[in-house]
Amino acid sequence: MDFDLFVIGGGSAGVRCARISAGHGARVGVAEERFWGGTCVNIGCVPKKLLVQAGEYGAWAEDAAGFGWTIEKGPHDWAKLIAAKDREITRLEGIYRKLLANAGATVFDGRASFVDPHTILVNGRTVTAERIVIATGGHPERPEIPGAELGIISDDAFYLKAMPKHVAIVGSGYIAVEFAGIFRALGAEVHLIYRQPLPLRGFDSDLREALAEALAAQGIILHPGCHPEKVEADGDARVLTFGGGQALRTDLVFFATGRKANIRGLGLEKIGVETNPRDAVKVNEHLETTVPHIYAIGDVTDRVNLTPVATAEGHALADTLFGDRPRSVSLHNVPSAVFSTPPIGTVGLTEEQAAALGPVDIYLTRFTPMRHNLTGRARKTTMKLVVDAATQKVLGVHMLGEDAPEIVQGMAIAVVMGATKADFDRTIGIHPTAAEEFVTLRTRTRTTDMAKAAE
Ligand code: NDP
Repeated sequence: MDFDLFVIGGGSAGVRCARISAGHGARVGVAEERFWGGTCVNIGCVPKKLLVQAGEYGAWAEDAAGFGWTIEKGPHDWAKLIAAKDREITRLEGIYRKLLANAGATVFDGRASFVDPHTILVNGRTVTAERIVIATGGHPERPEIPGAELGIISDDAFYLKAMPKHVAIVGSGYIAVEFAGIFRALGAEVHLIYRQPLPLRGFDSDLREALAEALAAQGIILHPGCHPEKVEADGDARVLTFGGGQALRTDLVFFATGRKANIRGLGLEKIGVETNPRDAVKVNEHLETTVPHIYAIGDVTDRVNLTPVATAEGHALADTLFGDRPRSVSLHNVPSAVFSTPPIGTVGLTEEQAAALGPVDIYLTRFTPMRHNLTGRARKTTMKLVVDAATQKVLGVHMLGEDAPEIVQGMAIAVVMGATKADFDRTIGIHPTAAEEFVTLRTRTRTTDMAKAAE
């Protein structure tokens, strides 16, 4: 065999797996056809956060007046922002590539596919490997409606030539909500069109309500309960029909309607690697596919599609295969953030999920952050603890408000360790912060008992 391990895909999962395996002394080959670092670094988490930060400066310039500053807010230069973002992404992509080369992996810039279960075709040549890892990630998916190709997807949003003045975003998952905030903060009229009564299906319902309020407070126009029907072109403009015939003329229709695994052209059917009906590669808890020496990690498995999960899986697999340290990654209590305006941080069970298992004590607080009592900005923070009524274990921590992702990352350690409400209570707060509310929530808001409710 040419390699001990061949990794197909140089995103968060693949790069980590290849790098750590090479560090353990394995002979590693890794192929990437588009950009090193994958979605997260190039057209996902990283550039997205830079765009969110661009929006924040605008709000700070406005808010400064409340603190005595005279700042005249000029126009925003989209082209300058995108150029700065591109420079940073190019720098990061280079670092990812270098990390692999420095670790001793053989790097292939090209598309790889299976010839047989141990042979890969890449850049016109075949290479053989003892073990193979599929880490090809996913791609955004448009809904199947007429004219869907006239709308953009998140991949395109990072390269728009000009900032649209009017945007219609379809969907209300992570990407929809984040980009609604970005475009609004940079000055666009933004419409959010979604099927549910509230955005972010699957999140805690108090947070979802708080988010809908926060989006509206920013001036985002919400269209809940609406399905998209068709998109038509009218010159450069687009006309989106939705919600039973309502038509919206806009500069840009943006579909943020979910992502799907990248398996096309890999030749999986040839070698017996099974996929599920959503095209994701099936894996067991050891990240093995239905072919034992072939593994799959990250978004291509469509379980918890988050970068830190992908990197953790890549690392665990490398340690297991070549580091003499077999281990797996727990997908319980995975914290996550939505970089909405203001952002969300969350870990553990929602009230609905926890109450389905047994009675839960809910501690909930909503307040105006100190800063905004002076700025006058209509922005509220919501913080919530979901506590098992019987054991007093904290099952869920949820927050919408400034710095929520930074705060909840720390809280996640407590939840993973199995902290109880009493542990939170005996922790001294840091004053004055919003975070201290999590350790000073003394009054139970309610107890939710689904079993009782069902009686
Ligand atoms: P999500 O799965 O989070 O949300 C998809 C949205 O599209 C939902 O609102 C869904 O509605 C809607 N939708 C799906 N199909 C249709 C349709 N045919 N017509 C109308 N609406 C539709 O996907 P995203 O694209 O936002 O993000 C993909 C994944 O990427 C996330 O799940 C997350 O794992 C990851 N991600 C994480 C981020 C972070 O950590 N901050 C940031 C960005 C992405 P409904 O609820 O009704 O099904």
